[in-house]
Amino acid sequence: MRKRFDLYLRERSRGYHSDAGIGRGRVLAGVVLLLVLILIGWKVVQNQGPSLVLDNEPRGLGQSTQLAIEARDRKHNVRRITVDVSQNGHSLYHTETVSKSGPIHWWKFWTKSESVVNWTAPLNRRLIPGLAEGSATVQIAAINDSWGRFFRGGESRVSLTLPVRFTAPQIGVITTQHYINQGGCDMVVFTVSPGTVESGVQVGKYFFTSFPVKPSMPNTRLAIFAYPWDLDPTTPAEIIARDDAGNQAVANFSYRVFPKKFHTDTIPLDDAYIARVVPPIMSQTPDLDDQGSPLKNFLAVNGRLRQIDSEKLVELAKQTSPAFLWHEPFIRLASKTEAYFADARTYTYNGQVVDHQTHLGFDLAGLEHMPVLAANDGVVVMAQFFGIFGNAVVIDHGTGVQTLYGHMSQLEVKPGETVKRGQEIGRSGATGLAGGDHLHFTVLLDGVPVNPTEWWDPHWIHDRIQAKLEAYR
Ligand SMILES: [Zn+2]
Repeated sequence: MRKRFDLYLRERSRGYHSDAGIGRGRVLAGVVLLLVLILIGWKVVQNQGPSLVLDNEPRGLGQSTQLAIEARDRKHNVRRITVDVSQNGHSLYHTETVSKSGPIHWWKFWTKSESVVNWTAPLNRRLIPGLAEGSATVQIAAINDSWGRFFRGGESRVSLTLPVRFTAPQIGVITTQHYINQGGCDMVVFTVSPGTVESGVQVGKYFFTSFPVKPSMPNTRLAIFAYPWDLDPTTPAEIIARDDAGNQAVANFSYRVFPKKFHTDTIPLDDAYIARVVPPIMSQTPDLDDQGSPLKNFLAVNGRLRQIDSEKLVELAKQTSPAFLWHEPFIRLASKTEAYFADARTYTYNGQVVDHQTHLGFDLAGLEHMPVLAANDGVVVMAQFFGIFGNAVVIDHGTGVQTLYGHMSQLEVKPGETVKRGQEIGRSGATGLAGGDHLHFTVLLDGVPVNPTEWWDPHWIHDRIQAKLEAYR
């Protein structure tokens, strides 16, 4: 009896035990399932779209507007970018791009890749015949391959309300005659219609931007422009204006270009000169690798570094003030001229021609370590060791005009400092690519070297610049 009872108990307990096992297992499985369902549910209802960036965000829709869109996603692949244009609540246009493969696989959690899709969507007037002048809404969406939004993918949206303009800006030329020496400058004054966001003078590959004649007249513009030394003097010059919708207008103006003959010069190189000038420049320029021989290093400095320096000067020009910072002609340092603007230089080594470069400034020599004076009022935008120019200063004088002082032994100004015409900014020297103590002086317009002699000439300054602006004082 007792045994049976035991047995009964044991069975009961076994039975009870096994019942409990099934129960707990089911509960656990249920909980896990619930968690998985919650997780899936959360994944499915959430909306984590790619990040959307517009390059050069358009300020309007014109005859031909291009929308440069970039979608990036670190967790999922970007699948689609769509663009929809509507006006007064009516949908007018839909376009999209589809991307198939991607770098992100959900199971490769250890990789750190990013899905990036770049797309330029054309929004031509031809593609959207229903579009009328006025205002339109552009909806941009990027969708990824996540489970979000019930398996439709995470989506992010950008909505822009933009003016629609199909007529190009109007340009009215005010100044009448323009005479330009090859390598030199002149100034044109013109008006643009409201909505114009960019205007200036295009001369071949060069664009010289315009500035308001005064802050209260933003649509009356002055553009100092050059016929750079390296352009054929028959290259046409035109005034160009672009509006907020990307419409571009081109206007002619009357001008005459006078071709100039530039000096030529031969510079014999020797080992002592190369050994003196090249190592200090290389030591300040870690990007320039050793080319294997002193002559090859010299040629890299004279060619590639010269090019890098000129690109930096174009970048620096973007910091120019929109207003004139000066009132008087530029100062020429009283000294002997050793080299002229746009001298065509031939470099020889052991009697062999090894290089050709153009010297785009004036070399002015006087006493050793002579005071170097600011050519005009302005703001220092650079004061440091600067490639072939050695210790150099760049001063901004406003409206695209800057001056460069090279090969100095000492710098006495700092970037951001306001300087006065005639103020000492340092001492001359022979740093950088210099044969001896002298000042290398360049006048830059939008970063392009121009002939300094015009800027030193009070008559030129009066006739070409000041007289044309008298009406706006
Ligand atoms: Zn020079």
